[in-house]
Amino acid sequence: MPEYEVVIGLEIHCQLATATKMFTRCGYSAGAEPNTQIDPYTLGLPGTLPVPNWQAVEFALRLAVALHCEIQPISRWARKHYFYPDLPKGYQITQSDHPYALRGSIEIAAPEGTKHVRLQRIHMEEDAGKTTHVLGDDVSLVDYNRAGVPLVEIVSEPDIRSAAEAAATLRELRTIVRHLDISEATMETGTLRCDANVSLRPRGSQTLGTRCEIKNLNSFKFLEAAITAEVRRQTDLLEQGQRIVQSTMSYDPGKDITRVMRSKEEAADYRYFPEPDMPPLRIGPTWIAAAQAALVELPWDRRRRYVALGLSAYDAGVLTADLALALFFDRVLAIAGASTAKQVCNWLTADLLGRLNAEARTIAESPIGPEAIAEIVELVERDVISRRSAKDVLDKAYREGISPSAIVEREGLGQVSDDSAIEAMVREIVAANPGQLEQLLSGKAKVRGFFVGQIMKRSQGQASPAVVNVVLDRVVESLRPGRDDS
Ligand code: ADP
Ligand code: MG
Repeated sequence: MPEYEVVIGLEIHCQLATATKMFTRCGYSAGAEPNTQIDPYTLGLPGTLPVPNWQAVEFALRLAVALHCEIQPISRWARKHYFYPDLPKGYQITQSDHPYALRGSIEIAAPEGTKHVRLQRIHMEEDAGKTTHVLGDDVSLVDYNRAGVPLVEIVSEPDIRSAAEAAATLRELRTIVRHLDISEATMETGTLRCDANVSLRPRGSQTLGTRCEIKNLNSFKFLEAAITAEVRRQTDLLEQGQRIVQSTMSYDPGKDITRVMRSKEEAADYRYFPEPDMPPLRIGPTWIAAAQAALVELPWDRRRRYVALGLSAYDAGVLTADLALALFFDRVLAIAGASTAKQVCNWLTADLLGRLNAEARTIAESPIGPEAIAEIVELVERDVISRRSAKDVLDKAYREGISPSAIVEREGLGQVSDDSAIEAMVREIVAANPGQLEQLLSGKAKVRGFFVGQIMKRSQGQASPAVVNVVLDRVVESLRPGRDDS
């Protein structure tokens, strides 16, 4: 039984977040009432002509420069014909044989280390409208708002070797376009879409096997599941001695299988021909240089920078995967200093994200900002509060939306700054009152007040009750029989 190698190439569509459509000044924003963002051009009315959206070209250029593509000085538009209600013009303007960008790559983390997934090309095109088929109803609905919205299609080389790598490639691209601020790139809303071409070949073979293309994968979960199901299907066929027929597939998440939609023989003939109403697109060296100069820091550079600050590759990846989180992190560092990177990362990923996730909030919806985290880190660094009470302070700051230092002040936490001074007092008093300790350990919460009172008295009111309570818990826990904690 031969062992097969999985070979995958992705075709990724990404909607560009420009204010207007690709070839008309008609405005577009997601979520509007159906058919409110249309104009004569969008509807393909006779006599309308395309005018390029230079902002879209600039966004597309930004992406190609970031991915180290070779920008083509001249690219050409073509008409891709098909007949379907979502396409009022009857054809889509795209760049078929002459895309604006060739080659380039996306860097991902692979089992064997960093891997470059090479790209074949990126081209620009316009989106189609949206049809809705209501099951059991005899009408289909069509919304032309999305028709004509600018897209880039990124086509990879068949360099991807597993479902996980495919997801990693798509995730990385999503992070990149978000860093570049050119697309929302969410799969749920369709501003990022992906088709996966999958083939198998005997391990060690250099020739490509026959591929099948899985269409319309609209979540990362489905992308991985669909590839896995398709690999299973192809493996079964090959092991039964059958041949793979080049086909377009769809994925059924309910049954977790892929199905043939059409074979290559049934494939549509799009009758491509040059777009007569659009001159070739010229992108000159000055424009490319400007795009290069304006390039922001890219995810892989950001990860390297974070690792150089002492973060693990894993933490650097977590922070970078969410641009808002990375910017938050950078803002904390700008206040607290780069040397605090590791602590800041811990506070963010372990504490703040934990709280946010529990409430299904994003970092942008955090009730406390970068200043608050910087303050927490500084308060701990300066030994004003211990890390333990800092967690408590962060919790209060989060819940009440006020600054950590205000809480430290309000609760007198900074008065006796040294936990160990309080701890010494606590241990002394606990040791002097074994009977009460016994009661506390057996669950009589009432004697707590006795201990807190004693400790407060001993500290002459200088200790903060919050700290005393925390330290008391810690000491009592450490004295619980059966625990060897000193
Ligand atoms: P088309 O334009 O007909 O869809 P392309 O040759 O442009 O076909 O390839 C589209 C995608 O399919 C690319 O991402 C490419 O990497 C991928 N691909 C091509 N051949 C294979 C193969 N044998 N196995 C897996 N992916 C492939
Ligand atoms: Mg294709």
